[in-house]
Amino acid sequence: MATYIVLLGPPGAGKGTQAKLIAEKLGLAHISSGDLFRENLKAQTELGILAQSYMTKGELVPDDVTIAMIRDRLSRPDCAQGALLDGFPRTPAQADALATMLASLGGSVKCVPLIAVPAAVLIERLSGRWSCRAAGHVYHEKFNPPKQAGICDLDGSELYQREDDKLETVQNRIAVYERQTAPLIEYYRQRGLLVEVDGARPIEEVGADLLAVVTR
Ligand code: ADP
Ligand code: ADP
Repeated sequence: MATYIVLLGPPGAGKGTQAKLIAEKLGLAHISSGDLFRENLKAQTELGILAQSYMTKGELVPDDVTIAMIRDRLSRPDCAQGALLDGFPRTPAQADALATMLASLGGSVKCVPLIAVPAAVLIERLSGRWSCRAAGHVYHEKFNPPKQAGICDLDGSELYQREDDKLETVQNRIAVYERQTAPLIEYYRQRGLLVEVDGARPIEEVGADLLAVVTR
């Protein structure tokens, strides 16, 4: 049966960093809703243009379009073994929709690791984040620098700082997380799926804990 895992945590917790590593190790598709929106924006699709106005303000894109985008993504062949969801769901309505989608695929969420990191650390992480243009690989100028400044180690593409990683927008994204996404902690705890991992440690240590959680 396919394995579906939801990575939960505030912006900057390390979801993308860890999801890429774990998805590869477990042979699961990595589904990042933020990356999907950014790809749509780059291609100037209708969805990308709609999402942009929300993303630049650090607000959530409306549930209906976000849910439709993930439903389409989950139906693709590379999700046959399952998927690691990074950045989705972000509201209780999205979580309900995910449960329905997975049920129709004959599956369900296996576990929900929460990467817990204090707000002050998040701001430091996001202000030093550099992302690659080609595939969204993430670096940090201090905590995880690329071998050559400005260039992705993995695919040689250019690294850039996201527009929504500026301080003002980051503060709003953290507030939006607290208001709209943090309720999912209780949502998944009540369903017996939540496992908290201390994310305020080096990338390798957090990764080792996460791997233990998702493979047990
Ligand atoms: P998210 O997807 O949750 O927003 P990212 O994976 O993009 O988070 O990480 C945010 C920033 O923090 C990136 O610059 C990344 O390199 C850095 N980072 C991720 N995990 C750690 C960690 N455990 N310690 C220090 N920096 C980290
Ligand atoms: P981070 O990695 O810092 O948590 P993401 O790349 O996941 O940020 O998301 C960037 C932006 O994309 C969000 O601020 C929001 O506007 C939009 N977005 C991503 N996922 C969702 C979602 N599940 N629901 C609504 N909006 C989303």
